Amino acid sequence: MECIREGCHNMIPSTRRSDAKYCSHGCYKVAKKGRDALEYTRRTDLYDKVKFNDSILHIMFEVKDEIPVHYFDNLGFYFDIYISKDSIDFEELYVMYDYAYSIRKYGQEVYIKIWMIGKDQKGFEPHILTHIN
Ligand SMILES: [Zn+2]
Repeated sequence: MECIREGCHNMIPSTRRSDAKYCSHGCYKVAKKGRDALEYTRRTDLYDKVKFNDSILHIMFEVKDEIPVHYFDNLGFYFDIYISKDSIDFEELYVMYDYAYSIRKYGQEVYIKIWMIGKDQKGFEPHILTHIN
């Protein structure tokens, strides 16, 4: 069998474990480093996007807790990025660090309902949310 590291076409020596995927420990390490770097980029990218979403939710929340969705679109809000999902009164919540949002439809109008995550709570308590009507 051939080593699976990109660019390496060496055969895996029979002296290595039968389930070995790399020809050498060196190849294994190089491949792992690449995977780790990718994972790091993915994580920091996600963190930055969640922070970005949070900052938009924060600004909007100061104005009103229900805002038409196009304001978010205009600012480049990442609707597909959130830490987790939760629900409150059967409303699906998309949870960031400090805020969460849900989507509300009134006929053709789509609004983003903003929820502030309980500030008095240490750590992440997505089921404790406060909102102002
Ligand atoms: Zn190799």
